[in-house]
Amino acid sequence: MEIVFDNVTKNYGPINVFRDLDLKIKAGDFIFVTGPSGSGKSTLIKMILNQVKPSSGHVIIDGQKLSEIKDKREIDRIRKKIGVIFQDFQLINDLTIEENIALALDIVGYPEDKISSRINEVVKLVKLQHRYFLFPSQLSGGELQRASLARALSVEPEVILADEPTGNLDPTNAWNLIKILQEINEKFKTTIVMTTHNMDFIESLDKKVIKLDK
Ligand code: ADP
Ligand code: MG
Repeated sequence: MEIVFDNVTKNYGPINVFRDLDLKIKAGDFIFVTGPSGSGKSTLIKMILNQVKPSSGHVIIDGQKLSEIKDKREIDRIRKKIGVIFQDFQLINDLTIEENIALALDIVGYPEDKISSRINEVVKLVKLQHRYFLFPSQLSGGELQRASLARALSVEPEVILADEPTGNLDPTNAWNLIKILQEINEKFKTTIVMTTHNMDFIESLDKKVIKLDK
C-alpha cells in the first residue's frame, strides 16, 4: 500500500497542525514519526485512518483520494488493510487474548475454519504462545502490547500504524516490541509507521524518520 499526503493542511479551529504537508510512504517502509507532544503525530495517524480529515489537500491511498471515495464499502476495504496499535493497548478486558484476536478476525470476515490456526500463528509471532488463553488483567504491559500487536497482525494487514506503542513500556519491553515490528517488516514486507518520543530507537536504528515540530 502506498500512502501519499498531497499538500495537506490541517487546522483544528484556530490551531494549525500541518501546512502544505507532502509525504510519501511506500509499501514496505519502516518509518518513525517523532516530535514533541502536540506536534501532530496522532493527527497524522488519524488522517491515514480517515478518522480526521485534512482541512485542505488530500490523503491518497493506492492512488485513491480518500475524500473522493463515495462508497463506504471501499473505505472499509482500505481500512481492513491497516492494523493499529496504541499506547494503551485497547484490548477488551472481559475477553481472553485469544477471544480478542478471534473477534478481530470475525469482524473482517476471516474464514471461520482458519481462525484457530491463524491465532496460533500470530501468538507465536509475538511470543505469546504460552499466554494467549489469559485475560488482559493477567498480563504484563509488555505482554499486553504484544497481544495488541497480535490482534492487529491477525488480519494480515499491509500496514501497521503504531501510535506511541512503547509509551507505557519499560526499555526492555519497548525494545522487544521494536524487534518484533522489525521482524514483521522484514519477513512480510508490512509497512510500519510508528510514532515515538524515544530518540534511542531513532538513533540506534537506520530507519526513515519524519520529524515534526511546531
Ligand atoms: P501529538 O500526537 O504529537 O501529541 P496531536 O496530533 O494529538 O499531537 O495534536 C496536535 C495538535 O492538535 C495539538 O495542539 C492538539 O491539542 C490539537 N488537537 C488534536 N486533536 C484535536 C481535536 N480533536 N480538537 C482540537 N484540537 C486537537
Ligand atoms: Mg499523540
